[in-house]
Amino acid sequence: MAEVVVIGAGLGGLPAAYELRHHLGRRHRVTLVSEFPRFTFVPGLVAVSLGHLALERVQLDLAGLAQRHGLQWVPGKVQALDPVARRIALADRELSYDYLVIATGAELAFDALPGLGVYSHSICNPAHALKARQAWEAFLRQPGDLLVGAAPGAGCFGPAYEFVLLAEADLRRRGLRERVAITYVTPEPYVGHLGVGGLAQARELTEALMHRRGIRTITNARIEAVTPDRVRLADGRSLPFGYSMILPALRGAAFVRAAGLGNEKGFLPLLPTLQHPRYPEIYGVGVSVHLEQPERTPVPIGLPKSGQMTEAMAMVAAHNMAVQLGVKPAPWRIPTLEALCFAEYGDTGIAYIAAPVLPDPGSGQRRYAYAVQGMWVNWAKGAFEHYFLAKMRLGWGIPWFEQWGLRLLFGLALAQPLASPLEVTDHEHSPGSHLHPSGF
Ligand SMILES: Cc1cc2nc3c(=O)[nH]c(=O)nc-3n(C[C@H](O)[C@H](O)[C@H](O)COP(=O)(O)OP(=O)(O)OC[C@H]3O[C@@H](n4cnc5c(N)ncnc54)[C@H](O)[C@@H]3O)c2cc1C
Repeated sequence: MAEVVVIGAGLGGLPAAYELRHHLGRRHRVTLVSEFPRFTFVPGLVAVSLGHLALERVQLDLAGLAQRHGLQWVPGKVQALDPVARRIALADRELSYDYLVIATGAELAFDALPGLGVYSHSICNPAHALKARQAWEAFLRQPGDLLVGAAPGAGCFGPAYEFVLLAEADLRRRGLRERVAITYVTPEPYVGHLGVGGLAQARELTEALMHRRGIRTITNARIEAVTPDRVRLADGRSLPFGYSMILPALRGAAFVRAAGLGNEKGFLPLLPTLQHPRYPEIYGVGVSVHLEQPERTPVPIGLPKSGQMTEAMAMVAAHNMAVQLGVKPAPWRIPTLEALCFAEYGDTGIAYIAAPVLPDPGSGQRRYAYAVQGMWVNWAKGAFEHYFLAKMRLGWGIPWFEQWGLRLLFGLALAQPLASPLEVTDHEHSPGSHLHPSGF
């Protein structure tokens, strides 16, 4: 019997554990380790932070899910990983593994800028979203200037756009809009870039919406510091605020950095099969994985790793581990990194589609990449949230009908077979073999 451990029970870890349970049957043990006792549907935190949704509506109890669906459940934060001895350490115990999935998302790099996260809010985890909501309620009682944006090096801009546009709609609904000047400050080279350049219509649609809603935008912005009531930019500008929400840059988990498994930011550089080049029994999934931003922008930005890309990685990692264990027949699979992201903007929404997110390194082209706008996006996002939470309750990973739905409705594939077998241990120093949809 193999001991399989999944670290992190978020949008990557929980589906990965379910997929593994499904593939491996009862012959192998699947253990889920998570620092928090509840699963959180992170995309719901934007609505939570504005008081539109109760946090409990986007959370599920992990101990109950694990018991119902045949997973061993270990609460606690992983402090250290020894990839040679194949052991992980928590505060109160150690665990051995034969196979490991790292799905720990990212740490928030607040320490990169003075005052960031001290005087500005974030909505990236449940505790931050609740704190942001409390402050938002106080702001509504005494409105001032609203500043929303992202720090240099940030890679996930969708939540900042959602926050600023939903906040604007909220202020309008409450009759407070005239009293609040709103600014969006971003390292993106243009509004609607979202870390993925070249999506047809994305710039036009997003810029027009921000303009229509009277939101001032500052692009190529390098925030240098946040003080109690101002944001200072590298070009000397100083922007006042009564409330600010600034997304930080991200880095990999501390134990990954300490184990020397990550790159300089602690993200996992992986083979296309999602295995670590030096430790083929270690897989990575979701935001913890290194994906190279292909564009050189005036202010550095990362590449977004969306929920759907994360799910695709969870599916592929579980499949490949099952092949490696001899439970499933080859071929191995690789994630296509084709992404669809629904962004809810109040009385409208925009769907951003990139197939794949990383353009072909040779031609610089994608199969297609575009944005479309409409109220249907908000309905689709709401429906997806309900669907996702329902399938997590039921113990489903990424069922076939979800894969077919994405293919039929948006032409998106989550995974493709690996064309040729990999000699994983030979690939450590070969950049072309690292995670890329067409990397080999
Ligand atoms: C506010 C916000 C809104 C978003 N909206 C969208 C959206 O609309 N659409 C979309 O596609 N994507 C969206 N995203 C991105 C999406 O949430 C991520 O792609 C997804 O959550 C990544 O899943 P993950 O498993 O890698 O990380 P997470 O979902 O963050 O899960 C990681 C888990 O690992 C746990 N963990 C971390 N370190 C340890 C440790 N040492 N030991 C044990 N456990 C640990 C964490 O507590 C967490 O539970 C949004 C992101 C944010 C922040």
